[in-house]
Amino acid sequence: MKKIILTGDRPTGRLHVGHYVGSLKRRVELQNSGEFDDIYIMIADAQALTDNADNPDKVRENIIEVALDYLSCGLDPAKSTLFIQSYVQELTELTFYYSNLVTVSRLQRNPTVKSEIQMRNFEASIPVGFFTYPISQAADITAFKATTVPVGEDQLPMLEQTREIVRKFNQTYGDTLVEPEILLPDNEACLRLPGIDGKAKMSKSLGNCIYLAEDEKDVQKKVMSMYTDPNHIRVQDPGQVEGNTVFTYLDAFCKDEYFAEYLPDYANLDELKEHYRRGGLGDVKVKRFLNAVLNEELSPIRARRKEYEKDIAYVYDVLKAGSEKARAVAAQTLEEVKASMRINYFDDEELIKKHIQKYQK
Ligand code: ATP
Ligand code: MG
Repeated sequence: MKKIILTGDRPTGRLHVGHYVGSLKRRVELQNSGEFDDIYIMIADAQALTDNADNPDKVRENIIEVALDYLSCGLDPAKSTLFIQSYVQELTELTFYYSNLVTVSRLQRNPTVKSEIQMRNFEASIPVGFFTYPISQAADITAFKATTVPVGEDQLPMLEQTREIVRKFNQTYGDTLVEPEILLPDNEACLRLPGIDGKAKMSKSLGNCIYLAEDEKDVQKKVMSMYTDPNHIRVQDPGQVEGNTVFTYLDAFCKDEYFAEYLPDYANLDELKEHYRRGGLGDVKVKRFLNAVLNEELSPIRARRKEYEKDIAYVYDVLKAGSEKARAVAAQTLEEVKASMRINYFDDEELIKKHIQKYQK
């Protein structure tokens, strides 16, 4: 069986370092491993509209930002197909058919959707499109017969829902769809990177992000304002590392080699944590180190972005070509789905012959 990747992001803002460690970095590694037959990376504009229906311009303006972030992180259009969701109309049709296989109560149990509804104050009136977006995600994944979906932890319930839909579809209509596997980050800190405010998840919608394209000065300001251990008041106080955002970010980004360069008194992160726990290590010193680490990671991304920003027409060409290719693939799957569901009447000569005979008598 072919090995195929599908993943993507909502164009609701620029991409942030949570996206980077949660999914983007892994995608680039997988792309360059040469182990996959096809890689599809989707800018999920239709999904973004499910909770931004009144603000289409936000979505429209952010497609290019997400595409620039992709290219600057190292996604290569020669190896990965970058495309826009709404261009692939077949996805909407698949969503419509799959929605017959899912119950309202099953959707209500989805913990990610539950917390997102709460976050957006949708409790009193949930847009139907938003409520059912896990079904449209199943369409996105299955349209490309994806075997592997590299994403952050918040996507676990979506993948579970997709796998259920695939099983139900195949049981009901015969083997047609491929059951995908989720690929989560290995590093625990990257599963769900917290925001700079210490909130559970860095998210465009919460405004607690460090963006990939942000300049050095702004990153520094954000790092210096980051949430740490509220009980670590004086330098000599013992501090807590667990739940301390600065240390979570170090867990996500730090490599031993950065100590030799920026903090040679320590050999590695364990030693730094140990000192913090003991007391005698100030937040400012740790934050300065984190700032240096983030800069090391982000400066090549920033530099590549500057290059791509000079040729926006090229970026649009990449998206257009990718969208056309993706559409052809999804159209093929839709044809197979419709044949399995027995809604391909005009292709079925037997059916037409049978009905002719029925009324000839
Ligand atoms: P929105 O607030 O609009 O939902 P978002 O910041 O949650 O935006 P998405 O576009 O929904 O971003 O998510 C894109 C991908 O990035 C998904 O695979 C998701 O799991 C991953 N991701 C998003 N935020 C984080 C995070 N804080 N830590 C790890 N992975 C993340
Ligand atoms: Mg999200």
